[in-house]
Parts: sequence; C-alpha cells; structure tokens
Amino acid sequence: MKWQSLLIIFLLSCMLPARAFDAQIEMVNFDPQDQSKIFKAIKAIKKVMASDEFKKRIIEHTFQGEKKFLDNKGHTNEEVFQKILEGSEELYPVKNGQMDIELELIESESKTVGYTYPDTKRIWINRIFFDSFHTADIANNLFHEWLHKLGYDHASDYSVERNSSVPYAIGSIMGELARVYDDKND
Ligand SMILES: [Zn+2]
Repeated sequence: MKWQSLLIIFLLSCMLPARAFDAQIEMVNFDPQDQSKIFKAIKAIKKVMASDEFKKRIIEHTFQGEKKFLDNKGHTNEEVFQKILEGSEELYPVKNGQMDIELELIESESKTVGYTYPDTKRIWINRIFFDSFHTADIANNLFHEWLHKLGYDHASDYSVERNSSVPYAIGSIMGELARVYDDKND
C-alpha cells in the first residue's frame, strides 16, 4: 500500500465521530413496566453523557475549595471523567465506552435505595424506592451504583462531605441533568 493511501485512511479515521456511550444491562425480577423505566433512564443517561454540560460539571467540581472529588482514588477530575468515558469496570476491564451491569429488583424494608459488592456485576435495587422513582432518580441511582463498579467508593455513614464523593456527587449531577434533558426532549 502506498503511503498516500495510509495517510488517507489515517485522516479518515480521525474524522469519524467518537462512538456514543452505551449500556448493556441484564435485568432480574423486572416486569415489562419496570424494564421500560430502566430503558428510559438509560436513554436519559446517554443524552447526558453526550452533553458538554456533564463534562463541564465534572471537570469543575470542587470539594473544600479545590477542584476535586472526595474518595477519588487519587484521580483528578479529568481522570475521573476519562474513567467514565472508558467504561472499564473493575470486574470487566474492557474500555468499551459502556455500562456493563446486572440489575435485580428486590423487595426490602431497608432504607437503602440500592447496593452492590466489589465481587459482583450485580446491583440490587429496592422496589420500595424504584416504584416511586422518576426517570431522573433512576438515572442518578444507576450511575451512582455503576461508579462503584468503576472502583469508586464512599463512607457508609451519612455526612455532608460524603455528598462530594465520586458516586454521590456524579450520581447527583447525572440525576439533575437527566431531569433537564428528559423534560426537554420527550
Ligand atoms: Zn454507594
């Protein structure tokens, strides 16, 4: 192949748009109505991921006067954003730009909205909350739990500071913007 052809291929590949963020979700104990709530939340998450605003809010996030998150694993805001774009879960470390998760809906009297463990792909969601949640709340919760899958954690006890941890802070940003984009486009 002539070098000119290689150059053209290289230039064309630079012009291709970046692949949109995606989600691969398995659901256990979800009836069709529950599933459609998840699909709507995923659609909202994709819209937010494609927005400049989401990136900006993450890059400019401050904690105690500094541009950073609490419990950031030593990552800068830019690095946290990059981790999100890559979508490389600790248990499935492939940079595929995708949320790879399993969800199980459970009936529980506990006050926990959702939880997961480091050794599983699965995220358990409490139906008590899920039933009353709107799309933006579900987007917030899914993103929060998925950030755990990327390796970010937070204190188990409530504190104001905890709201600045990667899962809480970015889950909230996701929920807030999901509400805006969801209202705007559907
Ligand atoms: Zn959490």
